[in-house]
Amino acid sequence: MTAAVAGGTARETLPADRRPRVAVLGGSLIGLTTALVLRDIGCDVDVFERSRSPLEGRGVGIVLHPATVRYLLDNRLLDLSAVSTTAAWHRYLDVDGSVLAQAARRHHFTGYNTLYGTLLQTFGRDRYHLGAEATGVRDDGDRVEVAFADGRTATADLLVGADGVSSFVRRTMLPGVRPGYGGYVAWRGVVDERELAPETFAALDDALTYHVQPHTHVLTYPIPHYDGGVAPGRRLMNVVWYRNVAEGRPLDELLTDREGRRRDVSLPPGAARDEVVAEVRSTAAATLPPPIAEVVVKNEAPFLQVMVDVDVPRMAFGRTCLVGDAAFAVRPHAAAATAKGAEDVWALADALLRAGGDVPAALAAWEPARLEVGRALLARTRELGEGAQFRNDWVPGDPALTFGLHRPGDSADMRVS
Ligand SMILES: Cc1cc2nc3c(=O)[nH]c(=O)nc-3n(C[C@H](O)[C@H](O)[C@H](O)COP(=O)(O)OP(=O)(O)OC[C@H]3O[C@@H](n4cnc5c(N)ncnc54)[C@H](O)[C@@H]3O)c2cc1C
Repeated sequence: MTAAVAGGTARETLPADRRPRVAVLGGSLIGLTTALVLRDIGCDVDVFERSRSPLEGRGVGIVLHPATVRYLLDNRLLDLSAVSTTAAWHRYLDVDGSVLAQAARRHHFTGYNTLYGTLLQTFGRDRYHLGAEATGVRDDGDRVEVAFADGRTATADLLVGADGVSSFVRRTMLPGVRPGYGGYVAWRGVVDERELAPETFAALDDALTYHVQPHTHVLTYPIPHYDGGVAPGRRLMNVVWYRNVAEGRPLDELLTDREGRRRDVSLPPGAARDEVVAEVRSTAAATLPPPIAEVVVKNEAPFLQVMVDVDVPRMAFGRTCLVGDAAFAVRPHAAAATAKGAEDVWALADALLRAGGDVPAALAAWEPARLEVGRALLARTRELGEGAQFRNDWVPGDPALTFGLHRPGDSADMRVS
């Protein structure tokens, strides 16, 4: 059976009497993609998101990959060329700011809010339940029951755990699996291009700009402004600076926010203590190439993400599965985590169609290939991180270091309309 999707491609749908009720836990990029793709094949889908208000500002810049935006492009929901920025060059700067290596390779970037807002608007708010924190999951083989913190419950034929790096569903199904600390953190932030010195703008414009030194590396790229601006000079310059921090006391101190609370895997904008921010700025000014240092120094609200790996032995458990960061969480060096999550979802829809709506059969058939993709991406991003931060063997300009999901470079030069 096929159904026409408004403005887009026709997709096969499940027979009317074989349409599973689906509960998706987590309403971020991968939860919403799951909801839309499965709803289009005929599933009856609800999304349960812990946050009390719609999500915003996460991740800041997202490097586009064809899989990340497949739903939006297939259904012509967004003119990506109007909401994304672009950089034509991969460039490595030496510490004095001179160009060490460069190659023509085009990437596109957009903001988390652009993708999230479009996906949420398309799914609608009726079945998107905010303030729904799952606290219990029971899969009895015939159905899955979810309990929420506020006493509500939901019953489904299929439970999809899209609840991110600290996934409750993963902790329930795989209690022995813990995120492993990679030994370093990423400081992130943005600066309005209008605040940059003309020579800095000229050095960073139209490029994904890297700088590598022993035990650290940093990159910048332009992303859309909060006001939607995507023209050069009207965007935000995004920076990600990877710095090694020993586990134990140094990491605990760094993650202690201005209220004295030890955060878990991130410090949101405004949470880092003043002395910590001052140290980041002064070290940037003293050690990074001047154009990149300026972006770090002028970034008013730096935020931090701890680099962790999550390696899962399974993604399917009867009628329950894990997708996106809830399954494998990988370091960002391939800029492909959202793409991997979106592919998990497309493959799940195909498996459900092939199994005629039989959920356990579909999950069993779906799992092996997704484990393989997750493991390969985890291994490659670990390797990239170890090379840059510990082995110090990154060679500026090496094409193996470029972004990509299945192979380096598979997100470059993609179509955006
Ligand atoms: C420095 C950095 C740079 C990155 N850059 C890129 C990039 O360029 N390109 C890219 O593709 N990816 C990038 N990523 C990765 C990307 O941000 C994530 O892979 C992606 O957002 C994961 O989406 P997700 O929906 O699986 O999880 P999340 O976005 O983490 O969402 C999980 C959701 O589940 C909710 N939740 C959690 N627990 C519960 C519960 N018990 N009940 C209900 N809801 C719950 C949370 O509130 C959250 O909204 C980057 C990551 C980092 C750290």
